[in-house]
Amino acid sequence: MGEIVYLALGSNLGDREAHLALARARLDALPATRVLAASPVEETPPIGPAGQGPYLNQMLRVETTLPAEALLDACQAIEGEAGRDRAASPRWGARTLDVDVVLYGTRRITTPRLLVPHPELANRDFWQRELAALDVDWSRAMRDATEAP
Ligand code: ADP
Ligand code: MG
Repeated sequence: MGEIVYLALGSNLGDREAHLALARARLDALPATRVLAASPVEETPPIGPAGQGPYLNQMLRVETTLPAEALLDACQAIEGEAGRDRAASPRWGARTLDVDVVLYGTRRITTPRLLVPHPELANRDFWQRELAALDVDWSRAMRDATEAP
């Protein structure tokens, strides 16, 4: 029995559907990790610098025993496998794959590498819709998250 985690996928470069599919498969193949459910895929306008194409977005419900930072490491490795070049892309610039940790159980995490619940959750209506599609009350989840003892 691991933690129930919500991961947000986004892609606006190259074969977007293939990048989401790669992320689902690789996450499901991580040690002690299963993808339990996926929201519908939603197309959204780009956030950030102009000149980017639209995103495909999808929220996943995942069960894992990986600690949060190890899960982030795995997400970043999968982004790399999808061809994401962090050095070549400005903040919020176009990317083949972005995997963000939106919720990690009921935990509130505040470290230099990880802010959970994701601070953009309150601002991104598409994440809110995708969580609702997975029967998650996002505002309650944000409110109820607590620091680990
Ligand atoms: P963004 O997702 O904000 O567009 P990046 O994917 O390049 O940008 O992530 C930048 C940094 O954000 C990562 O190196 C990571 O350490 C940090 N970060 C902080 N909180 C989170 C989170 N909840 N999920 C993913 N990354 C996070
Ligand atoms: Mg990210």
